[in-house]
Amino acid sequence: VELRDVIVEFKVGTYFSRRVVRVLNGINFKIFDGETVGVVGESGCGKTTLARVIAGIIKPSQGKVLFQGEDIWNLKSSEYREFRKSVQMIHQDPYTSLNPMHTIFTILSRPILKYGVIDKSNVREYVAKLLTRVGLTPPEDFMYKYPHQLSGGQRQRVAIARALSLRPKLLIADEPVSMIDVSLRVDILKLISELKKEFGMTLLYITHDLATLKYIAGTGRLAVMYLGEIVEIGSIDKVIENPLHPYTQLLISALPEPDPKITRTKQLPKLRSLDIPSIANPPPGCRFHTRCPYYIEDTCNKVKPKLIEVEREHYVSCHLYTRK
Ligand code: SF4
Repeated sequence: VELRDVIVEFKVGTYFSRRVVRVLNGINFKIFDGETVGVVGESGCGKTTLARVIAGIIKPSQGKVLFQGEDIWNLKSSEYREFRKSVQMIHQDPYTSLNPMHTIFTILSRPILKYGVIDKSNVREYVAKLLTRVGLTPPEDFMYKYPHQLSGGQRQRVAIARALSLRPKLLIADEPVSMIDVSLRVDILKLISELKKEFGMTLLYITHDLATLKYIAGTGRLAVMYLGEIVEIGSIDKVIENPLHPYTQLLISALPEPDPKITRTKQLPKLRSLDIPSIANPPPGCRFHTRCPYYIEDTCNKVKPKLIEVEREHYVSCHLYTRK
């Protein structure tokens, strides 16, 4: 998948005071076949919009989304159908992502039949296998239940089974554990991680929690978002060991370090402000300048920094690196 200069704007407000909010501001981003990419950032920074743009649910206001080299919004209907089958998403909220009127069997079998994944006579067996694989056993105990009869963790397992049922090439997991019980989170993350390897899928993992990202993405890449922009991207190891952007340094300095022998990333000097600006009214120039302790007067507040490669495959958008 490749995103080229993607801008997404939403109209908000009432009929009399309508205004445009730019939620994604010029995103350039590639996801390579088979890799795991984590996207991290605070709530409201545009992560979910990014996920939905990649899944073809939201059409960008400007820019292009390419899947296997083709612009997804210029695909013929048969190709678009294939794209929708190939890219599946696990949503954040297991309480609203499953239709409460349908049994688990109906929820899982509908997309399977719609996309002709398997012959109708084998659907029951296929659904049973999927439920077993995501840990809902024996499957007969779950197949004819409704979502409200399941716990949050069980519902998220059903959502994972639904995503897997179409044998996708790219799985997008949008904060898949943020709304389920803390005690179940590791099991769900472990399941996604195992299935990624087993099915040979590419994984895009969206989160506000760097600790879960380290767990699931391992040796993959990490993109850091701030107010609708990607401010740093590189391998997880490089970004965590050597965070370049002051915002990434802030995120990493907030991570708990369980091993006292490990030296922490240097602490960030005091922030200029603790207020997080709204994406509806972002600051000019570098969007982090209202908080950044390294703020450069007359540059950071006026000129938007470009995303540049500072070390091999490690990119950052910050004037501290363009001045060197
Ligand atoms: Fe801080 Fe300036 Fe870099 Fe933005 S561009 S992160 S304000 S130093």
